[in-house]
Amino acid sequence: MSRQLSGLIVKEQSGFFWVEAQDGVTYTCRLRGRLMEAAQASDIAAIGDRVCIDALPDGTGAIEDVLPRVGVISRAVRTEGARGAGSPEREHVIVANVDQAFFVFAVAAPLPNWKMLDRFLVVGERAGIEKVTIVANKIDLVDDARRTFAPYEQIGYPIIYTSALTGAGVLELRALLKDKISVFTGPSGVGKTSLLNTISPDAGRAVKAVSNYSQEGVHTTRDSQLIRLVEGGYVADTPGIRQLALWDIEPSELDGYFREIAPLVSACRFRDCLHRREPGCAVRHAVETGTLSRSRYESYLSLRDELDVAYAI
Ligand code: GDP
Ligand code: ZN
Repeated sequence: MSRQLSGLIVKEQSGFFWVEAQDGVTYTCRLRGRLMEAAQASDIAAIGDRVCIDALPDGTGAIEDVLPRVGVISRAVRTEGARGAGSPEREHVIVANVDQAFFVFAVAAPLPNWKMLDRFLVVGERAGIEKVTIVANKIDLVDDARRTFAPYEQIGYPIIYTSALTGAGVLELRALLKDKISVFTGPSGVGKTSLLNTISPDAGRAVKAVSNYSQEGVHTTRDSQLIRLVEGGYVADTPGIRQLALWDIEPSELDGYFREIAPLVSACRFRDCLHRREPGCAVRHAVETGTLSRSRYESYLSLRDELDVAYAI
């Protein structure tokens, strides 16, 4: 006596998928064999996928069909050479159907790691996530939180200023998370767990459990999970996201993923300008005249170095 239900994959481990189905039950599912027969350039199923299942009364089921994806955070798996080298062989999907991303940093304790923020922003742009928001937490610790993040406000990234301690900004954040699949990530110690706990009891604890688990190195590849918020919506903070290397970015594409650098590039004298020492570089000119933040430019240079090394191997 099986039933056909639609649902959402919220967790994946060792070939099993936990599917939250429309009847409110979470079924532990396997992929139907025929889904695995067709050659696939991408993972057949991943967390965030909307699926049709054949559900049994004992709480198990089989995934019959996976709906087309939008907003995928993924990584190209390459078989040749070192990371970044060779052509992409397969797409490893970290989270599918991501509606938006929140990159969480603290205004103090710890001070913002701008390079990490810039790396996240590049990954978000690369993944085509339309809505990326910066969360500046612990605003209770400083007087001028807005000044700290002002350069990002100028670039056009929305910023929410929060304090898990005083509750400032928490209602706004909660409203944005409702009914969406959100990536919610940042370095440790910035207050992600505390913020999520103020929004949804136990959500923070669940996130922490996932990340601690992986830090112990017990389970390194597939400990992805979507955590359900009481008011509706899900958050993902999988270690896979935090450690995202810039695998699939060609060095020459990088400038396009810095929102404020991208429009300058066409004004560089050389079409293949690296924006390092070339004469007539519009990007360097913008740094010198103060219209482009030096910190952002330095992030560009260091990511570019990283990519050049990866692709040279
Ligand atoms: P996570 O590692 O990002 O999940 O960070 P936690 O939520 O575990 O918080 C790390 C530390 O910062 C804890 O001691 C929290 O009590 C503290 N903390 C979190 N949010 C705030 C905040 O808004 N203001 C202040 N002053 N401390 C905070
Ligand atoms: Zn240039």
